[in-house]
Amino acid sequence: MDRYGNRGGYSGGGYRGSASRARELRRRKRRRRAIRNRIIFGCVVLLLIVGIVFLIRWLVGDSEDAPEGSAPASGAAENTQAGPEAGGETAAGTEAADWQAVLAEADIHCQQYNYDVAIQMIQGVEGYEDIPELTAAITRYEEEKSKAVPYENMSEITHVFYHTLVIDGNVTFHLDDPAKVKDYNQVMTTIDEFNKITQEMYDRGYVLVDIHDIAHLETQPDGTEKMVWGTIYLPEGKTPFVLSQDDVSYYEYMEGDGFASRLVIDEDGGITNEIDQEDGTVIRGSYDMVPLLEDFIEAHPDFSYRGARGIIALTGYNGILGYRTAPKYGDPTDSSYLEEYASIDVEYEREQATKVAARMQELGWRFASHSWGHRDYGALSFEEMKTDAQKWEDQVEPLLGGNIDTIIFPFGADLGTGSWRGYDHSESIQEKYQYLDSLGFDYYCPVDGAQYWEQMKDGYFRQGRRNLDGIRMWWAVSGEKDTLSDLFDASEVFDPSRPTPVEDL
Ligand SMILES: [Zn+2]
Repeated sequence: MDRYGNRGGYSGGGYRGSASRARELRRRKRRRRAIRNRIIFGCVVLLLIVGIVFLIRWLVGDSEDAPEGSAPASGAAENTQAGPEAGGETAAGTEAADWQAVLAEADIHCQQYNYDVAIQMIQGVEGYEDIPELTAAITRYEEEKSKAVPYENMSEITHVFYHTLVIDGNVTFHLDDPAKVKDYNQVMTTIDEFNKITQEMYDRGYVLVDIHDIAHLETQPDGTEKMVWGTIYLPEGKTPFVLSQDDVSYYEYMEGDGFASRLVIDEDGGITNEIDQEDGTVIRGSYDMVPLLEDFIEAHPDFSYRGARGIIALTGYNGILGYRTAPKYGDPTDSSYLEEYASIDVEYEREQATKVAARMQELGWRFASHSWGHRDYGALSFEEMKTDAQKWEDQVEPLLGGNIDTIIFPFGADLGTGSWRGYDHSESIQEKYQYLDSLGFDYYCPVDGAQYWEQMKDGYFRQGRRNLDGIRMWWAVSGEKDTLSDLFDASEVFDPSRPTPVEDL
């Protein structure tokens, strides 16, 4: 094209003297011949290129017609199994092992309803157009994407919660202290129960979503922020739900009662538990909700919507995640200082807690304030609430990397009587809300017996939570009332190690 463009500039011949006219004509003739030759040569080269391209396509196309067994796998696991030894160079020069790893990861994104991310990942592989497994994956992701529709009942999404899980009911429900046994039996859930509930909810099509998927703050044209509904894209038959866990502190009072001791990062960067044994040894494994859910999602990626995990509600008076981070541990002058914890290196505990919390957030976990001192914000005066909330801001939030926007009220309380009508219900409630709002809280979660309870206001989103614990399951099992049947069959789940009747304290 350039050459032809330049030719347009050749126009001076007609102005030359008549003596050189014949020479000029000969020159033009030679020039025309040269151009013709060049065009012919160009055409031959072009034909050659086209021929080679067809030959390559024919060869690649031939491998596409290979038997079914070698077709792209539908699951990530199968692709992983293909392994690096199936490697070799593709026409584009991308190592097979590399694109197979990308394909395995993209498959998980697709299973987690994150179709666009899956497609973009494949398109990020250099020369993906020439790798049949990758173009087939895109077709598959597009197909899955077309089945996902916006979830219609956004205002009817259930939110379930647990406390730290009982490892073995035969230990925890049969301790010597009857008051503790009653309390644990009422509000705790065993690992065995949790696993059965999770499996049953998965089988019924429940999919874990992040509370931020339901509602989020959106900046308005005037610069103010307003809480608005989100959109959740799921295939028909899937039901979103939110999950949380309270008091993941492994409190002093629970030591030796048959619970995990803390959460730690394992060798592979995953989250696992440690249990301190009486003889001083430490056991590692999945002994509470966080690692158990991680295990479940690894086996069933489609249980998590776009990588969502649960919300972990934390107080601060002992510390968080099993780390003794509260100031009292390092301060003998503190009124609640305990000699038996004198060997604790608080700075080290805080470092570890910070690392674990950061890793959990990377994995999709969210954190919430559960008040600093496990206090009922509805019953406290404004000043008392302010003091407690400020302690949480100062001592706990920094360990979580800041910017925590969710409150999960202890005791299932809220900001005061009648607050379910909205936080503008009374002046005292409004005052408390405005203070918490100024600390950055936008999501507020009380406890509610109903299947779902949500409230959307300009400044915040509220969601009631349902306790999946001993008392609720006992009500269902004993025939008093079944408030769980939409999620699972309590009679299939209820742990036989529980003393009955389970008492409502
Ligand atoms: Zn609590």
